[in-house]
Amino acid sequence: MGFSYLFGPVPSRRLGVSLGIDLVPLKTCSYNCVYCECGKTTELTTGRKEYFPTEDIIRELDEYLVTGPDLDFITFAGSGEPTLHTGIGEIARHIREHYPAYRMALLTNGSLFFDPQVRREVADIHVVIPSLDAVSEQVFRRIDRPCRELSVDAIIDGLVALKQEHPGEVWLEIFVVPGVNDTDGELALFADVIRRIGPDLVQLNGLDRPGIAAWVHAPTEAEMTRFRDRIGYPATEIVRSPTTRTDIPSFSQDTLESILLIIRRRPSTVEDLSKTCGLHPNEIRKYTDALAAKGLIAERFEERGVFFVAV
Ligand code: SF4
Repeated sequence: MGFSYLFGPVPSRRLGVSLGIDLVPLKTCSYNCVYCECGKTTELTTGRKEYFPTEDIIRELDEYLVTGPDLDFITFAGSGEPTLHTGIGEIARHIREHYPAYRMALLTNGSLFFDPQVRREVADIHVVIPSLDAVSEQVFRRIDRPCRELSVDAIIDGLVALKQEHPGEVWLEIFVVPGVNDTDGELALFADVIRRIGPDLVQLNGLDRPGIAAWVHAPTEAEMTRFRDRIGYPATEIVRSPTTRTDIPSFSQDTLESILLIIRRRPSTVEDLSKTCGLHPNEIRKYTDALAAKGLIAERFEERGVFFVAV
């Protein structure tokens, strides 16, 4: 797909077949999470601006959507925090008005919803999925490593306001980091805060591939179940292993084989593969997930990040 801001469609664990819209340059984010699949944050900021021209993004969307592709969702996501882009409201409104058959989702770290303007801008998006990985300041700083000016209390207040005002659904995502955000004290605080927010759904997620820090490990089934039971929120689900569908229209066997050949020649990171193949990092993930599921490649943690190696 020869687009600059669109990627996919990619198979998503939560959203089915999803067309991604990437609104900010690679690793522009208000957090630098220890589990981030896109690597280290290079621009740590809460500064909102038009990172890419809104009209160019809308032009690409028109070019793609006019063909009537079969999608479960159009998702604002990608390689940084989408709400940092000041055109997000205009883009969502354009999709609502011109392509009303499609549902939209927003994957966001939720850090900017204390700002009423940001809450207003996402009002047209059917499903807003903010993350909340901690409820105490200390744990928040350890996992999400945010901009200094952000505070978890203000973020929680923003999420409470978002749920009260948002006409669509709000699903809260919690990334479980065993030994860090699942202590007895943190879980008790989580239980209270989730009740205050009152999301339509809570999704518990965990590492399914190496992140930035070696000390973050994947939660076991028992750790996930304990987390869910302790927060005691009825609408809670545990997100299972990654989707490795290869039957979606944008999946190319040629690309799959090319990526395998590159990795066989030289261990590569997602960024290396993205540059070599000219594909968005999330596109690359689609293929590396499929190759890993077939047992053809494995992941190795090194100084520069996660490398894929041939098995
Ligand atoms: S909020 Fe998302 S994009 Fe930003 S560092 Fe965390 S996981 Fe990565």
